[in-house]
Amino acid sequence: MDGTEALDQFKRMALLISVLFGPGHVLFIAYDAFVLRLAQEQSQLHRYQQNLHPIDRLLFWVRLMKRNALQLSSWFEEVSLSSGPLPSVRDFTKVFDQIRDEESWEPKVSTALLEALKISALTSLGQPFLAGSSLSGITGSMTGDSTISGETSVGTPRPAPAEGSDRVTNVDFLPMFIKFKQDRSKTQEICKSILRNEKPPLLKSKVSPADDMCLAWHTKGGCNKNCNLHKDHVKYMKAAAEPLHQW
Ligand SMILES: [Zn+2]
Repeated sequence: MDGTEALDQFKRMALLISVLFGPGHVLFIAYDAFVLRLAQEQSQLHRYQQNLHPIDRLLFWVRLMKRNALQLSSWFEEVSLSSGPLPSVRDFTKVFDQIRDEESWEPKVSTALLEALKISALTSLGQPFLAGSSLSGITGSMTGDSTISGETSVGTPRPAPAEGSDRVTNVDFLPMFIKFKQDRSKTQEICKSILRNEKPPLLKSKVSPADDMCLAWHTKGGCNKNCNLHKDHVKYMKAAAEPLHQW
């Protein structure tokens, strides 16, 4: 993961927000300001990153993404709880000022996320800041499919999790689906019974309304990288997942 890749991921997120809410929406305006500032400050951020401790250097972009994802999801959480006017949107660009002013801005990065990034070796170093909080962001997939590269001087690496596996885990699996996960019936079988009209058709994806929701991702907690419905491999808030739960 480098600055350019991170910028691309943030741009994709901005696009998604613009598609979901429209380019005039306050959330898009705030998020777009973040992406613009990130693009402008690439070289400053790169310099900042190079001066960090190797582990912090390695985790820099992951942390920035996590912090951004947390801001997004806390706003969504607030929206889902409020029935009145739209809560004010987070200032996503604040992090750049904090970095410039050498204030602390880093969120904790969970072991689960590190494992998803195939850098679980770092967790064996016993760094206290690597423990703790679980990943919660609407953008699990934003960081989940990334790999870290280019930094090898961070201790003795343990063997990475099975390379070449096409399995992707939904780190934002909602507990409401645990019954489905424990149920032995295979997603494939369920899809067959849909074809036999024994079950209603699959629900449409919230993020890619032309496609179906990915049953395996949401109800079984994981799927394949090359799934046809991979666009739907994103975190749903409880309310958004409720129709699938009813289904
Ligand atoms: Zn899938």
